[in-house]
Parts: sequence; C-alpha cells; structure tokens
Amino acid sequence: MGSAWLTSCLTRPRMKKRNLVSLLAFSFILITCGENTEKIKTTSEPSEPPPDNCPQMKKSDSGRSLRWSNFPIHFSIAKDFPPSLRPALFTAADKWNKALGRTIFEITTNAPNIFYWERKGILEDGAHGRTRASYNRSTLLTASITIMGTETFYSLDPYFYQYDIEAVILHELGHVLGLTHSENKKSFMYHELGMGTIDKTISQNELSALKCAYAL
Ligand SMILES: [Zn+2]
Repeated sequence: MGSAWLTSCLTRPRMKKRNLVSLLAFSFILITCGENTEKIKTTSEPSEPPPDNCPQMKKSDSGRSLRWSNFPIHFSIAKDFPPSLRPALFTAADKWNKALGRTIFEITTNAPNIFYWERKGILEDGAHGRTRASYNRSTLLTASITIMGTETFYSLDPYFYQYDIEAVILHELGHVLGLTHSENKKSFMYHELGMGTIDKTISQNELSALKCAYAL
C-alpha cells in the first residue's frame, strides 16, 4: 500500500522589532498558512477513478480530490492541549458538522487523529498551526492538527492582540477535509488570518468544494 503525508501550516511572517506600545497598537498582524506535500513512500498503484474538477481541494497525483472514505473522522485531544481552549475544538467540529448536515468530526478518546499543542513551535519557524495527514492514492487515512505557541496568544474571545482559536481550528479542520486555501480574504480558509475576532462563517465556496468532493 502506498502512502504519503500531506502537511499544511498556518504561519505568520516574521515581525519587525517594535517597541511594546507600537506592538500593542498593531491590531491586525497577519498570520499566514503555507502548504507543502512530503511524500514518504511511493509505490506503483492500480488505476483509480478519473480526475475531478472540484475546486479548492488538494489533489492526489492522479488529479483526484483527496477525501476521507468514511465519516465521522474521530479526533482525540492530547493532554498538553490547554483545557481553557478546548471548547473551541468542539464548537469548530460542530460548526463543520452542522454546515455539512452530518457528523463529520467526532471528538472522543483513543482516536487515531489527534489535536496536539506545541508550546515552543512558534519560536522556531513562526508557525501557528499545522495539519498533517496521511493518504493512500486519493483516500485520506489519518490526520493530526498541531497548534503552536503560548496559550495566551489565543482566546475563545480574543482581544485585538490575540488569535481567534476557533477560527484557527476551523481553518485546520478544513485542511483535514482536503480543502486548500481560499482566495477570499474574508474566508477563514484564506492563507492569512488577522488577530482579534475572525468571521467564522463557512462560505458557500468551501461548502461547494466539499459537496463536490464528497458527493454530499
Ligand atoms: Zn492553511
């Protein structure tokens, strides 16, 4: 069985040195999310269904949208994930479930897919969040989401200098489903997210892409 890893990152550009006052006054520092694909293993595969034209979906080598074969996708929460921010995991999962009209994500214990927290990650490469997924041909198999940084950088109800944790989770769960970035600056799937409260509406573009890929 061939498999590969897909990695999507949510990062921010390096900030210029500012004094504290100007830093606090800068209320719309952007975070960006880059993407790259790392293959860890390739084998020749039998033919798979033909390519599709679903927009905004990550494609396999054969041009087919990467997708899960079964719902719900079960996630567990790693012990390091700050308890105060965990409600955002449930609200974000529920928002995707409601938007797609079925239980897409279920948060439980001992699941193969994990929400991780890495306190030091942001110091090394500026990354805020990372989604990593394994897939075989065009079928997604497992996924993990890692949120990085000090927990006070994030909030369920963010001040202008904090990141909206629910928006970040919605963004990463979108990648888990196979979505790539949106070109719409108002979408939480845009590659940059501002500080403060973010519009967490799931747009018609993202819903259309997922309905196309999953034949919903
Ligand atoms: Zn992203």
